[in-house]
Amino acid sequence: MARTIGIDLGTTNCCMSVFEAGHPVVIPNAEGRHTTPSVVAFTADGQTLVGEAAKHQAAANPKGTIRSIKRSMGTDLVLEIGENRLRPEDVSSLILKKLRADAQAWLGDEVGSAVITVPAYFTDDQRQATRRAGELAGLNVLRIINEPTAAALSFGLQKSVDQTLLVYDLGGGTFDVSILEMTGGVLRVVSTAGNNRLGGDDFDRVVAGWIAARFQEQTGRSLDGDPAAEQRVLEAAEAAKIELSDAEQTVIRLPYLATGESGPLHFEAALTRTEFEKMTAHLVHATIELLQDALTAAGMEPYGFDALLLVGGSTRMPAVRAAVKRYISAPVAQGVDPDECVAVGACIQGGILSGDVAGMLLLDVLPMSLGLETVGGGFETIVPRNTALPVSRSRTFTTAVNFQPGVDLKIYQGESPVAANNRFLGKYTFTGIRRAFSGAPRIEVTFYVDVNGILNVTAHDLGSQKELNLTVDCTQPSKAGEDGRPAEGTAQAPSREQVEALLAQAQAQLDRLDPVRDYGRRAALEAAVAKTKKALHGKDLNAALFFGDVLRHELARPDEPTPKPEKPRRSLHLPWKK
Ligand code: AMP
Repeated sequence: MARTIGIDLGTTNCCMSVFEAGHPVVIPNAEGRHTTPSVVAFTADGQTLVGEAAKHQAAANPKGTIRSIKRSMGTDLVLEIGENRLRPEDVSSLILKKLRADAQAWLGDEVGSAVITVPAYFTDDQRQATRRAGELAGLNVLRIINEPTAAALSFGLQKSVDQTLLVYDLGGGTFDVSILEMTGGVLRVVSTAGNNRLGGDDFDRVVAGWIAARFQEQTGRSLDGDPAAEQRVLEAAEAAKIELSDAEQTVIRLPYLATGESGPLHFEAALTRTEFEKMTAHLVHATIELLQDALTAAGMEPYGFDALLLVGGSTRMPAVRAAVKRYISAPVAQGVDPDECVAVGACIQGGILSGDVAGMLLLDVLPMSLGLETVGGGFETIVPRNTALPVSRSRTFTTAVNFQPGVDLKIYQGESPVAANNRFLGKYTFTGIRRAFSGAPRIEVTFYVDVNGILNVTAHDLGSQKELNLTVDCTQPSKAGEDGRPAEGTAQAPSREQVEALLAQAQAQLDRLDPVRDYGRRAALEAAVAKTKKALHGKDLNAALFFGDVLRHELARPDEPTPKPEKPRRSLHLPWKK
């Protein structure tokens, strides 16, 4: 039977893990290492190199080498290298293909599926691009899970006691912090915060800037516009940074860095840890601010944690460790390998899904709010950040002008009340609204965010009870199937029989739930039951399976009071063809 592996698809390095004889083990790559550099290169003689081989030739072939592609996931960047035109997911898929091939060689077995990790703070489009990369590499992507959550899972498997954890994850290109509670085998994410563009690479760039400035002072020669020299400087900067994690001082030597009028120009300078820490203090400070943000969102104080997990290669920097430990008074978890624990956690999640790991359940949250642009450019949140996943939320909207034939749904993700300041995810156009004065039509928009943190959108005209025609704006990345339901493979749908069994369970649950204390849960369950029944009676099996999945997750929701919100919901106006 084809195997399932866990993959940590890092900005700088990747790692893989698999269950062997009931335990997660790290899979070595073809070179015998536990981590594989996330580097892809196209050589002049037509070879495609991935990993260590690509990293080694980077200085000699800077234009043909791609690093840190994870930073561009979800963007519409197209890289042109020789004959190749590559999107970020194409590059990531080349890395995943190598990982899959190496894992197959090591296991002597086919690898069919994977759980892939992403930074908790990855947006919807970044998650979709990651899933596409996995599929392009021939993998069935069982689940996308968040890196800090995966790290906590690997720690949670070792310690079966109830506890509150804080995961601080500073990798090569991204930073995430997550607060988690482990109770009776259920690992629940309470809050998360982060920055997709903050990581070890930024520390390297600061040191590289320092080297370039010193070199110019010493020789009068600028390195701008010399990619080969810039690449060597960046590599030397990273090496110096890593050395300063152990040593108080390092000497950076770059012979033949450029050529001047009187011959070759060399660089040599000493850098102390104190100087390094001074020039990068703002980056460490930025992570502590986000740590505060996660605490505020969780309504927690910086004390009372049972363990602090330091994850990601950049947490080896003494200044980073000291800053976090100064702020959070909790023991640093021992036995957590910052390079491997994320892949191990991904493999454990694979084990939970396949039944290899019993008695553990993972409940994650949405990292950033999702919502729509309203008339005037405002942002109306539909699913707030840190809401437990999966989640289905509906809102009613209306038209802004008389006889408006359609509405534009512009979907954004972020926290700003101004839509344009958030990340634009895509635009859907709904047409066929009945002729009516402004404010009369009622359009119910439903956002369903699945367990992978991936969004699916549906809309209904409540007046006519018709599903509105949906046109996906093809100039924008498509986020869902043509009918607004999830694209294939978005979630693991239950079978028809399971959907029917779920309906029965849901009815029993509804009978038990209190109309006041459980108002919110009842409303969500009732809506999911109605949609599932409608789809089953309409013989729309795909829709039934989709809503059955919503139902399943509604049933698994923890038993917490969800009373009726105090303020009545307003109808909000949506724009048309701006
Ligand atoms: P990751 O994405 O978790 O593989 O982390 C990679 C980042 O960790 C890169 O920016 C590395 O330069 C950085 N890194 C690895 N080891 C060290 C170290 N000993 N000291 C400082 N940074 C390190």
